Amino acid sequence: DPRIAKIASSIRVIPDFPKPGIMFQDITTLLLDTEAFKDTIALFVERYQGRGISVVAGVEARGFIFGPPIALAIGAKFVPMRKPKKLPGKVISEEYSLEYGTDKMEMHVGAVEPGERAIIIDDLIATGGTLAAAIRLLERVGVKIVECACVIELPELKGKEKLGDAPLFVLVSSA
Ligand code: IMP
Repeated sequence: DPRIAKIASSIRVIPDFPKPGIMFQDITTLLLDTEAFKDTIALFVERYQGRGISVVAGVEARGFIFGPPIALAIGAKFVPMRKPKKLPGKVISEEYSLEYGTDKMEMHVGAVEPGERAIIIDDLIATGGTLAAAIRLLERVGVKIVECACVIELPELKGKEKLGDAPLFVLVSSA
């Protein structure tokens, strides 16, 4: 698809952010490119419309940028998967490991119903720990994960292997 190359070239790489040695994939430049941003949303919408998906779950923070336009276009609800202590209502939470220590992800109780079909969206999959926590949260309440969707994958980190049976769809693979 010719749109993919334009999307890939709109993503900026910032060396040594947030720490020395990290090559940070910065999607804010994709958002400045009106065609690349529109095509990114269109590619996901083309893939997911008409597949009985009623939930688009977006991972904080950049899943909150890509998720809502996809949800609106396919007629699904948008469910935020948030960092701890951000959601005001009753939550369920899942811990996951980071390079140093652990973090938690939370979702509102009652946001989804057993038997619903979801996609989970984030900007990037690295080790896969973040998406794996989102999968566990939704599966705990009986939601079927149709697919995880990311703009960028860092394939060397083999994050896909952490997702169990949930398929992964990415637009751009980054060396
Ligand atoms: P994982 O849990 O190791 O797969 O890390 C993925 C999470 O870290 C996602 O929520 C990403 O937004 C964030 N992340 C890790 N590396 C980058 C990067 O280079 N650019 C943008 N986000 C990143």
